Amino acid sequence: MTVRIVMGTAYSGKTYFIKENFPDSLILSVGEYQRKLMAERKKSLMPLGEYRNIIQLANDQIKKDMLELLAQGKDVIMEHTLYKAARRKEYLEAFRTVTDEPIDIYVMQPSDERLLQNIQKNDEERERGIDWIKSQMREIEIPSINEGFAHVYVVNDKGIQDWSDKPVERKLIDKNTKLTLIEKGLGDEEKKKIAGFGDKPFKHICESCGAIAVLTSKEAYEQGWDYPGEGAVYPPSMFGVLSPRTCGNCGITETAYWAIVFEGKTTAELSEKQLQAVERIMQEPDILRVDSEV
Ligand SMILES: [Zn+2]
Repeated sequence: MTVRIVMGTAYSGKTYFIKENFPDSLILSVGEYQRKLMAERKKSLMPLGEYRNIIQLANDQIKKDMLELLAQGKDVIMEHTLYKAARRKEYLEAFRTVTDEPIDIYVMQPSDERLLQNIQKNDEERERGIDWIKSQMREIEIPSINEGFAHVYVVNDKGIQDWSDKPVERKLIDKNTKLTLIEKGLGDEEKKKIAGFGDKPFKHICESCGAIAVLTSKEAYEQGWDYPGEGAVYPPSMFGVLSPRTCGNCGITETAYWAIVFEGKTTAELSEKQLQAVERIMQEPDILRVDSEV
């Protein structure tokens, strides 16, 4: 029996997806746990604690209940937000204490249109709006099988796509075919080539707003840049590898990475800005040296 986790933002359609595809499974939804806890607090007239407390309590309870059901061999699916790999690790490690079954994860990636429909179905929460959810979506670190999942699936308007073999953050751009992605492991020579600048400053170029800053990788990370380099703790991307190149003020949805990986666009469909970003990524790390022209 496979253990399944369905992750995504509020209104991404997690529950609907589970009911459609796994009608016989039990569902534990972290959103439900949160709502129940909120309601209990209101009823008992206790002073409202911080929302964070409720989230933590809901996380603890859903984990405990999952472990119980999994230990009983129940077919149960966990519905959760789980944007960060570090959060997922916590659950994976816990599940592993009670089961050896494969664990699959599904990532909800609805289109704007679908999100709007889902929000409109629920008037009560409408004020949050699509911008809030889009900003949440930007927080998502797409899971990989390296975290310990048997399969990683992306669920979008086209259906369920198996991303298990896609090294999402490690796509090398082939100079001949431009966007053909090398999926093999890197040799030491190749690694050296894209290793970067160590603790030396280099150019950071935001592909969304065009900002350029000469920073060490560590400084850039502290200022919120999403950029490769030794000091960039997450994501573990590399020079010459297609991933976002953005400053602390810009989100990743305008990036070439997003257009290609999430929207499935081809080079022909990229904007001029995105094309330039791809061109620069192909010339990394040389193009980022302080003495080079951009
Ligand atoms: Zn920017």
